[in-house]
Amino acid sequence: MPSGTVGEFPPNADVAVIGAGFTGLSAARTLAKRGVKVAVLEANTIGWGASSRNGGMVLTGMKLDVGTLSKRYGMELTRRMYADSLASIDWVEQIVREENIACDFSRCGHLEVACKQSHFDSYARSAEVVAKEFSHMLRIVPRSELPSEIGSSIYFGGMVDKTSAGVNPARYVAGLADAALKAGALIYENARVLHISKTLPSGVGGFEIKTSRGNIFARDVLVATSGYTSSATPALQKKIIPIGSFIITTERLPESLAKELSPRNRMIYDSKHYLYYYRLTPDKRMLFGGRAAFFPETRNTIRRSAEILRQGMIQVFPQLRDTKIEHAWGGTLDFCFDTMPHAGEIDGIYYALGYAGHGVAMATYLGARVAQKICGSSDEIPYAAIPFPGAPLGLYNGRPWFLPFAGAYYKVLDWIR
Ligand SMILES: Cc1cc2nc3c(=O)[nH]c(=O)nc-3n(C[C@H](O)[C@H](O)[C@H](O)COP(=O)(O)OP(=O)(O)OC[C@H]3O[C@@H](n4cnc5c(N)ncnc54)[C@H](O)[C@@H]3O)c2cc1C
Repeated sequence: MPSGTVGEFPPNADVAVIGAGFTGLSAARTLAKRGVKVAVLEANTIGWGASSRNGGMVLTGMKLDVGTLSKRYGMELTRRMYADSLASIDWVEQIVREENIACDFSRCGHLEVACKQSHFDSYARSAEVVAKEFSHMLRIVPRSELPSEIGSSIYFGGMVDKTSAGVNPARYVAGLADAALKAGALIYENARVLHISKTLPSGVGGFEIKTSRGNIFARDVLVATSGYTSSATPALQKKIIPIGSFIITTERLPESLAKELSPRNRMIYDSKHYLYYYRLTPDKRMLFGGRAAFFPETRNTIRRSAEILRQGMIQVFPQLRDTKIEHAWGGTLDFCFDTMPHAGEIDGIYYALGYAGHGVAMATYLGARVAQKICGSSDEIPYAAIPFPGAPLGLYNGRPWFLPFAGAYYKVLDWIR
């Protein structure tokens, strides 16, 4: 990772961005390129959050299926959100090209695999709606043709979207930070934001931001803290559910075995609520992830999750029974109560978050779009046009006490549906 800006902590900036992941760095790059004095305040180090730890799947679509989206928001708004989700992948590709980021970006496509016949049946319906309403083609893969896509016999069929891509996320976030710095952004590591207050110093509106490295005044603030959103921004903390996601990687696989498991090198995930996602890395390891523990990462949840994931991986690929696991780690996802990304303004403070495990492309995209908004753009962001619900009955203060119940609920749903 690049190091942050060295030297004195500045007393002011035009825009303070909280969090140096995809959202914050993409926003900082856009702002700095427009000549805005932007200071990124990062509690840890550049890319420390989910942005360096994810599965590197640059996916189309959103977490929710188009049927649910159109029922909830109407087809017109869903169409715009879907178009944005496709544009977000182009956006990542464009940044990688423009900034010359060596991060193994590749348009390898993704494969969703059905754990039940009913899930597979729903793929055909989705593909039809997506083709008709969004002119986007998805390919249905019947069970008999699955061996050309995946070396596993447990699934009922699949659906391929060739638009999705894969990336090495840690290299990508490092490249994004380099690009933001080169454009003139300041990035301060170990600068945890503790408190934000509206202030009017010498008659000028803006915010006073108290950090562990000192105070800074800024005209605008953008919160880009995702699953690590804290009591420094209480109104947002109440709307975000932090959920753990965990990954293991195997030792390097022989070329022939790698080819058998994933002949087309797709980004793969299954159709369960408690889903598994997996892919080959460029150096031919199986990277296998899932929401094995639900609670955010600790040494304990990582250790427990690694074993659960290994068992899951062997169920999918019995060929890996004797393969060594070389790495295991975890990170925190940001779910909103409606499982949607959100971007907008709350109490005069900008935010973009709620990616629900689909943040590689969307965080990059929304970071830049909110930055454009801060610069005065009047272009609509469809995710700003939807309601941003909090917990039912307001029964949530940012501590997800209900996670064990939610985890059990989704396990039962996976079992019965
Ligand atoms: C294990 C795992 C696998 C995933 N796999 C995929 C995938 O394959 N594809 C996909 O699209 N998405 C995936 N995701 C989701 C994706 O990684 C995230 O949506 C995305 O990285 C969010 O980026 P971000 O910049 O908004 O947040 P983050 O990268 O989490 O950055 C937030 C930053 O804010 C900082 N911060 C928090 N509070 C403060 C404060 N008070 N002061 C200063 N700084 C603060 C944190 O230190 C952190 O660095 C995965 C996530 C995880 C955890």
